Amino acid sequence: MAVAEFARNKKPNPTLVAFVVLLHGMAVAAPFFYDPLSVILCVVMTLATLQFGLALGYHRLLSHNSFGTSRFVRGVMATLGTLAAQTGPLSWAATHRYHHSKADTEHDPHSPTIGFSWAHLVWTFFDHPHLKKEGVVERLASDLAKDRYLLFLERNFRSVNVGVFLITVGAATAWRGPEFGVSIACWLFGVRIVALWHLVFMTNSVAHKFGYRNYDVPDDSRNVWWLAILLLGDGWHNNHHAYPRAAKLGHRWFEFDISYVVLRVMKLFGLVWDLVERKSRGSSHAYGAIKGRG
Ligand SMILES: [Zn+2]
Ligand SMILES: [Zn+2]
Repeated sequence: MAVAEFARNKKPNPTLVAFVVLLHGMAVAAPFFYDPLSVILCVVMTLATLQFGLALGYHRLLSHNSFGTSRFVRGVMATLGTLAAQTGPLSWAATHRYHHSKADTEHDPHSPTIGFSWAHLVWTFFDHPHLKKEGVVERLASDLAKDRYLLFLERNFRSVNVGVFLITVGAATAWRGPEFGVSIACWLFGVRIVALWHLVFMTNSVAHKFGYRNYDVPDDSRNVWWLAILLLGDGWHNNHHAYPRAAKLGHRWFEFDISYVVLRVMKLFGLVWDLVERKSRGSSHAYGAIKGRG
């Protein structure tokens, strides 16, 4: 069933809608609970989650297998990705791989051809008609399902996030009182998570609608320079759809990709290896299981 038709006939998940509204409320309330330490922790953790959890972890490593690393580094990256409160690592990678294989067709989970707000946020309130089927996520992310720690994060995605929230806010309250606890809740969880949602979701909305194209791929993916800055390199999205496995997303001299620089530095220290060069067009991840558009 086409995604648009499915969404028309279904109601959005009320728990998810309430969660998203609550987090936005906490983000809006944050300036009223200003504390310099909360703001510093918010900035540091937002950058760390975006860089190591999402751009390198969930996206280039888990979804596309763009480089090799140890189980420890993969575990750290997957943990940070989990704390972005989007989905567990298997669900995220499966949805993203499916997006690459069906980009901007009627089966794409989040194409702006349905609507800009749909591609940006509304799609997250609905189950995808194909991805929600029993065993589909496990099949699309079968390589990741072999890692017991990734499976743990996938199955305990909600409790890990709630547990970290309660422990952090509890510790902040015990240390400097309830007002600091609320400040940490609003900045470190409200502002950080909401910012990460909108940053990452702009890949689906903005980078499939605005910007320029280097490659005539059969979808609407675009390169957006300001999004590449905000997303630490992941805004070169047309390049990425042309060569999904490549570790480096900037392909022209002015297309700067900070995540690739970070990967090269990590490689110097022996933390990552086997960075995939731009040569694997057509396969969105290591195992080539997805047929269709690259
Ligand atoms: Zn895309
Ligand atoms: Zn991708």
